[in-house]
Amino acid sequence: MSEDVKDAFVCPNCHSDQIQSYELIYAQNVSSSTHTTTGVGISTGGGLGSGVATTSGTSVTALGEVVAPPMMKSGMTFKKGCLVYIGLGFLLLPIYAIAAFTDSTFFYFLETAIFFGVVYYFYKKHKDAKKWNAEVYPKLLEEWQHCYMCMKCGHSFKV
Ligand SMILES: [Zn+2]
Repeated sequence: MSEDVKDAFVCPNCHSDQIQSYELIYAQNVSSSTHTTTGVGISTGGGLGSGVATTSGTSVTALGEVVAPPMMKSGMTFKKGCLVYIGLGFLLLPIYAIAAFTDSTFFYFLETAIFFGVVYYFYKKHKDAKKWNAEVYPKLLEEWQHCYMCMKCGHSFKV
């Protein structure tokens, strides 16, 4: 879609037609693994001469950082859940020991409260992340897909 739309617009700042979508600029400025990223020519003038990183792993240039797409929030994974569960166990063990040793209702209550509090906290965080990914993220991504940058003056704008 952006390929067709691209040339139909000019920069609102300097009226240059050398504009490029964030999506394309990002693709040109991020390199993964050991592949050497080769520059993609601009459709019209072809005046862009930006250097591209060729290091191994994922590397993003400074320009790539500017035009980076929105990221999804990571929810609870099985691995994270296990770590939380283990951490919770270590946290509750001394409280449980005190509760058992003193037969204190307060400590039993405290332990239960902490357990459900922590579980609820992570459950809520996970739900919020899922909700954000489902409701907010698509909007941000769509906005990002409409972002363009002028290759002449560096002005960013939405189309
Ligand atoms: Zn411009």
